[in-house]
Amino acid sequence: MIRRKISAAPSVRRLPSYLHVIKQVDTEGSEYISGTVIAGELNLEPIQVRKDLAITGIIGKPKKGYPAKALITAIEHFLGWDEIQDAILVGVGNLGSALMGYPELRSHGLRMVAAFDINPEKIGNPVHGVPVYSVDGMGSTIQDLAVKLALLTVPNTEAQRSADILVGAGITAIWNFTKVKLKVPDEVIVEKEDISSGYAILRVMQQTKKNEKNHGAP
Ligand code: NAD
Repeated sequence: MIRRKISAAPSVRRLPSYLHVIKQVDTEGSEYISGTVIAGELNLEPIQVRKDLAITGIIGKPKKGYPAKALITAIEHFLGWDEIQDAILVGVGNLGSALMGYPELRSHGLRMVAAFDINPEKIGNPVHGVPVYSVDGMGSTIQDLAVKLALLTVPNTEAQRSADILVGAGITAIWNFTKVKLKVPDEVIVEKEDISSGYAILRVMQQTKKNEKNHGAP
């Protein structure tokens, strides 16, 4: 089961951009959308799009494509975005505050219920309506709230220490924005986010294009 999930990861990463395109088409009043149209919008191969959409369980009709509304529902259900999930955040700095105010996360069902910091100036001052508590007592607050998901946006030096407290308090999924490879028990899921990876891809693509131009590629 875990192996199947991992092999589906690239498809899962593409689903949000499909959803964006399908929602646009739906708003414009079209009842159906084809895999070819989605692929064209996103510079992908139609076969790839059809394969990715197959994991949601919805089947397209020959010549017509996929019913747009049903496809939106199927993708959101597959992603678990049609359910509210409570989350807490640790480290209310530049990145943490920005994430707390990011409306798209809320529209995906992610509801931030509490945040924690060590800075006395931040504690007690809600950010985007979310209460900010001291890290002292973080474990018991998390247990009281029965939250299972944590966003980690503390400095790298604090990451493992924070993760240990989170795991001890019953957190089973950590969205890790720090650079640290966290050591957690097998049953805890960690997804590491890295803006630098996106920039790395962009930079290499720029260099590849430049080289192609210099070497006269069409
Ligand atoms: P920041 O200094 O603005 O914020 C860090 C916050 O964490 C501060 O409010 C600080 O008081 C608090 N803090 C420190 N120790 C703590 C602890 N033990 N428990 C709770 N709170 C604590 O830093 P930032 O720019 O927001 O970056 C935060 C983290 O995010 C860093 O690890 C950084 O490398 C990472 N980051 C990741 C990405 C990405 O692409 N994933 C992008 C930017 C920053």
